[in-house]
Amino acid sequence: MGSTQHYVIIGNGVAGNEAAFHLRQRDPESRITIITAGRLLFYSRYELPRLFHENCDWRDFLVHPVEYYVDNRINVRRNSFVTHVDADRKKLMLAHKEEIHYSQLLVASGGASYLPAELDEFAPLLNGFNLYSSACKVRDILPQKGKVVMLGGDVLGLDLARNLVSDGYQVVLVTTEQTFWPHRVESDERALFIGALRDMGVEVIEGVKIERIEQGAPGMSARHIQFDNGREIFADVVMPFLGLLPAADFMMGSGVDFERGLLVSTNLRTTDQNIWAAGDVCQIWSPEENQYRFYYGWKNVKKMGEIAAKNMTGEDIHWETATDQKLFIDKNRQLISPYWEHD
Ligand SMILES: Cc1cc2nc3c(=O)[nH]c(=O)nc-3n(C[C@H](O)[C@H](O)[C@H](O)COP(=O)(O)OP(=O)(O)OC[C@H]3O[C@@H](n4cnc5c(N)ncnc54)[C@H](O)[C@@H]3O)c2cc1C
Repeated sequence: MGSTQHYVIIGNGVAGNEAAFHLRQRDPESRITIITAGRLLFYSRYELPRLFHENCDWRDFLVHPVEYYVDNRINVRRNSFVTHVDADRKKLMLAHKEEIHYSQLLVASGGASYLPAELDEFAPLLNGFNLYSSACKVRDILPQKGKVVMLGGDVLGLDLARNLVSDGYQVVLVTTEQTFWPHRVESDERALFIGALRDMGVEVIEGVKIERIEQGAPGMSARHIQFDNGREIFADVVMPFLGLLPAADFMMGSGVDFERGLLVSTNLRTTDQNIWAAGDVCQIWSPEENQYRFYYGWKNVKKMGEIAAKNMTGEDIHWETATDQKLFIDKNRQLISPYWEHD
């Protein structure tokens, strides 16, 4: 008799897709459903900076062709936003009120861009870069050789910054404590890395706070930024790169323990027997550090998807603490993050 398991995965990113692949290998007769709030199939967000120098569209970013999902009987429910998980009834609720039953659930919902409360009022004047649609918007409004102001400068932002500079755009980086996130940078290294960014052509502004961001007057640049030291600059686009917040609001009230992310033991199981978590949304117990912690980046996240799927299908394997990825300056004076190496 075939498997009666229905594996449901919330999240269509690296962790969710890697898990679906291993679940299908290990339980060929099961039902697998991926649920995603997004409209596209799994695409590589890491390559979005290509939009600025190549004539490409969303098809060029897809990781698997449509046939992959058909051949592997992986049902992808797009445009479906999970609002609640009822762990007792093993059901999840979608925003359009549909209920979906699972045998085992994997939460791989990643993270959303973090915006601190003091920047909230300026949110309508800021542009993100975490989705294909938001990346296209920036490409469309940014004039040739236009100016981008980046607030913070986490590794996603710095990746975009180096691409924009080499494509002839101007980039101004306003540093905050999230600059270089999620790398842990010592204070003596920080000055070296800022120096490397300047050598790469990025204008760096340090030690200021944003006082106001305004829409530029007609005929002027689209954005006007005022700092607390009286300095002001004009730009075409202002983008926050201030790290990620786990996307786990829908787990509120489910009874599953969470801190900032979903708490999982080293086998990636949450405090509920039938719910697992992988990727940017989870905080994994580290016996060495005696605390729960996040591990970012595609290599870590991919591994988590594999471990979760294997454990959901009867294995007992564990996450081994990964060494932190280090930023470095290469022989060409370029700042390099290991997160930027993809395959
Ligand atoms: C723009 C961007 C670029 C990045 N670039 C790199 C890089 O170059 N190198 C690197 O190593 N790391 C990069 N990362 C960092 C990141 O740590 C991971 O590599 C990876 O993107 C995380 O994968 P994930 O599967 O955990 O989640 P994600 O890829 O974030 O996927 C989350 C999925 O969950 C879905 N979702 C969330 N909430 C809900 C809900 N309520 N209902 C339904 N669906 C929901 C989303 O629609 C999405 O499909 C990048 C992250 C971003 C945002």
